[in-house]
Amino acid sequence: MTDTVIRNIAILGSTGSIGRQTLDIIAEYPDRFKASVLVANSSVDLLIEQAIRFKPDTVIIAREELYDTVNEALSTHGITVLTGSQSIVDVVKDPTIDTVVTAMVGYSGLAPTISAIGAGKRIALANKETLVVAGELITRLLQSSDSVIYPVDSEHGAFFQCLVGERHEDIARFLLTASGGPFRKTPKDELAHVTAADALKHPNWAMGAKITIDSATMMNKGFEMIEARWLFGVKPRDIEIVVHPQSIVHSMVEFVDGSVKAQLGLPDMHLPIRYALGLPGGRLATDSKRMTLKDFANLTFETPDRDKFPLIDVAYYAAERGGNTPCVMNAANEIAVAAFLRGTIGFNDIYRIINKTVEKIAFVESPCYDDYVNSNAEARQYATTLL
Ligand code: NDP
Ligand code: MG
Repeated sequence: MTDTVIRNIAILGSTGSIGRQTLDIIAEYPDRFKASVLVANSSVDLLIEQAIRFKPDTVIIAREELYDTVNEALSTHGITVLTGSQSIVDVVKDPTIDTVVTAMVGYSGLAPTISAIGAGKRIALANKETLVVAGELITRLLQSSDSVIYPVDSEHGAFFQCLVGERHEDIARFLLTASGGPFRKTPKDELAHVTAADALKHPNWAMGAKITIDSATMMNKGFEMIEARWLFGVKPRDIEIVVHPQSIVHSMVEFVDGSVKAQLGLPDMHLPIRYALGLPGGRLATDSKRMTLKDFANLTFETPDRDKFPLIDVAYYAAERGGNTPCVMNAANEIAVAAFLRGTIGFNDIYRIINKTVEKIAFVESPCYDDYVNSNAEARQYATTLL
C-alpha cells in the first residue's frame, strides 16, 4: 500500500492509554489514517464517545453483557457493533484493514495478534505480553506470512531506529533503558509495606494500571528484554538493563566496533506510536513539544538493583530456559498484579507467587499454540491458589 492511500487502522484496546494516544495520532493525520475498528473490554461510555467522533466501520465491546448498551447508543450511526473475544480475532482479518494496533493488555492480545499475522497485516505492537508468552511461535508465524510487526514500546522503537542501516552481525549489545519506577530509591525492607496507590505513581509515564505495576516491580523490563529478544533476534544475555531515571534515552545499541547509537526524545508515548504508524513510509512531521538538551543537562545511568527487584532475574531465567516458562511467568504475573491492585496481597507477594508458579508448572520445551493456552490456564489456576 502506498502512503498516499488512507490506511485503515484497527485499534484493539482503543479506550486504554495506548489506544487513546493512537487515536490522537489518527486525529493528527486525517489524510493518512482512519480508525476503522475500535475495540474495548468494558469502557462503554468512552467507546461510544470515540465511535461517534471517529466514525469507525466496526466497534467491538468484548464483554457480551454490555453489547446492548453500545448497540443502542450507536444504532443511528451506521456502525456495526459486535461483541465477544472471537469477534476480535475475526475482525482483524477484514480485507479493508491495513494496520492492527495491539493495545489490549495481557494474554488477551495473543489470539488476535496470531490472527492478524495469519491475515498478513501490518501490526503496530504495544501488547508485549504476546511476545513474552509466545515469542517463538509468533516469530515462526511471521516467517511464513507477509505480516510485519513494528514496535510501539518506546525502548523497542528506539532499538528499531538505532538499527536502521545496520547489519545484524554488527550488533554487539542492546542497552535497554529503564526509569527504575517509583521505588528506585525506596529501601528494600520498605517494599513489603508499599500500596497499589504508591506503585501507581510512576515518575515519568502515565500508563495503564497493569503496566504501571509491572514497572514498579521491574517485571516490565524483564518483559521488554524478552520482547526485544524476539523482535530483533538477539540473545537474552546480550541485552543489558540500564536504569536511566530521566527516561530521555529510550534505549541504545552497541556495535562490534564499540560505537553506541541511542535514540532520545521526551517521555511521551505519542512519539513511538507516531513512528510505528509512519513505517515503512517514513516519519510523520509534527508540531508537538520538542525536547531541549538544556532541560535535560544531567542524564544519568545506573545498574539495576537485582536484589531489590528479583523479577529481573526471573525474567532472564525464563528467557534462557524458553519453552512455556515465559508464558507461565506472564500468567502468574497477571494474577498477582490484579490481586495487588485489589489490595489483597503485598508488593513482595508478586515475586513470591511468580517464582513459585514458575517452579511448579510442568515444563514444555517446544510448545504449540494449545500448549500455551494450557500453560496459561494452569499457571493462572495455580497462582490463584497462592494468593
Ligand atoms: P490500559 O489498561 O490502559 O488499556 C487496555 C485496553 O485494552 C483498554 O482499551 C481495555 O478496554 C482493553 N482490553 C483489556 N482487556 C481486553 C479484552 N479482554 N478484550 C478486549 N479489550 C480489552 O493498558 P495500556 O494502554 O497501558 O497498555 C496496553 C498494552 O500496551 C499493554 O500490553 C502494555 O504493556 C503495552 N504498553 C503500554 C504502554 C503505555 O504507555 N501505556 C507503553 C508500552 C507498552 P477497557 O477500557 O474497556 O477495559
Ligand atoms: Mg517500554
